Amino acid sequence: MRRTTALIAGGGPAGLTAAIALARAGMEPLLIERHARTPDLLCGGFVSWQTLKSLERLKIDPARLGGHAIDRVRLFAGNRSRSAQLPHPGMGFSRRRLDSVLLETAEAAGADIQRGTAISSADGPDAIRLADGQSLAADALFLATGKYELRGLKRPVGKQDRDPWMGLRYRISASAALRDRIGGAIELHLFRHGYAGLLLQEDGSANLCLALRRSRLREANGNPGQLLGLLGREAPSLAARLDGETLPDTSDAISRVPYGWRMREGHRGLFRIGDQGAVIPSLAGEGIGIALASGEAAARAYLAGGPAAAIAFQKNFARTARRPMAIADLLKRITDHPRLARHAIRLAGFPGLVGLLGEATRIRA
Ligand SMILES: Cc1cc2nc3c(=O)[nH]c(=O)nc-3n(C[C@H](O)[C@H](O)[C@H](O)COP(=O)(O)OP(=O)(O)OC[C@H]3O[C@@H](n4cnc5c(N)ncnc54)[C@H](O)[C@@H]3O)c2cc1C
Repeated sequence: MRRTTALIAGGGPAGLTAAIALARAGMEPLLIERHARTPDLLCGGFVSWQTLKSLERLKIDPARLGGHAIDRVRLFAGNRSRSAQLPHPGMGFSRRRLDSVLLETAEAAGADIQRGTAISSADGPDAIRLADGQSLAADALFLATGKYELRGLKRPVGKQDRDPWMGLRYRISASAALRDRIGGAIELHLFRHGYAGLLLQEDGSANLCLALRRSRLREANGNPGQLLGLLGREAPSLAARLDGETLPDTSDAISRVPYGWRMREGHRGLFRIGDQGAVIPSLAGEGIGIALASGEAAARAYLAGGPAAAIAFQKNFARTARRPMAIADLLKRITDHPRLARHAIRLAGFPGLVGLLGEATRIRA
């Protein structure tokens, strides 16, 4: 059995951040990522000003990512719309771009990155099994498999939502007209039990990402194309944006997103980071922020206190995430209901309110 000090399961933003921080401190973390090549994982693509600061702390110049600058949010519900300035500019870029830059940085720092092998199960840091049959043991396991559950260490999410949330994403080669309309905004088109986020990314393509309850897809016979037609009638703003655009034949999907879940208990040697530690409603655009902040904080805790520090780390991070997640959850509840959403759009015109909520849903770890 191979033994290592720090093993990181998953090479998304959380795992790669932990790898960078540990490698820079002189450790040789081993990171295992199941994809052989960096995928363009489903995501809304909005990177907040707070997340940009985390990147700077990792000595990654956000300009190197070449993202699309975003300085305002445009909200639509029914026939109402509002535009408001964000408290600070954010950026739009694809996960392929973000994860590639983080990966290059981790490798340059000296992390051992093993790609193209999945971890099949783990009972804890001492008992990790890979899909290729290898067994591994580590002093500490940084669990960063994101939305995906690892057999043996599934998130204890408790009672399942009877109508769970899911994500759907289309990457659109946007026409010049669509690029003009979106400009430097992140657009949120609200509809019953969900919303569609639309923004431009580093290469001028548009990312259309929907977070919605599964029942909405069922209403469209499980067919995402049909769903967009149906939503177009409820959200005329979205129909107008997509009019004349060529959408790819297939969309990416993720099911059962446990928005609002936080890991509140810690276990020796097990650091749950990113979506494995806390899942903030995506409407807040701070999931990547949580991934970076928790990856950094977990590495710091481990370097200072070893495997035993995992217990306090998990409790502290749950505390840090509590308020931003509670506010994000409240916003999600409002947008879940069309009538409330229409009132909320009116309130969004109140000077400073969007900025206040934008700041209150950021993670500072
Ligand atoms: C619909 C939707 C829209 C969103 N929009 C935004 C947004 O606009 N802005 C924002 O900040 N956040 C957004 N988020 C949240 C954000 O995508 C996540 O919070 C973030 O990706 C979490 O990063 P992570 O590193 O924890 O996990 P992930 O990004 O999921 O990465 C996990 C990695 O682990 C690997 N992996 C999984 N299982 C295994 C295994 N068994 N063995 C080896 N490797 C494994 C995966 O291949 C992957 O590379 C959105 C989420 C959803 C659902």
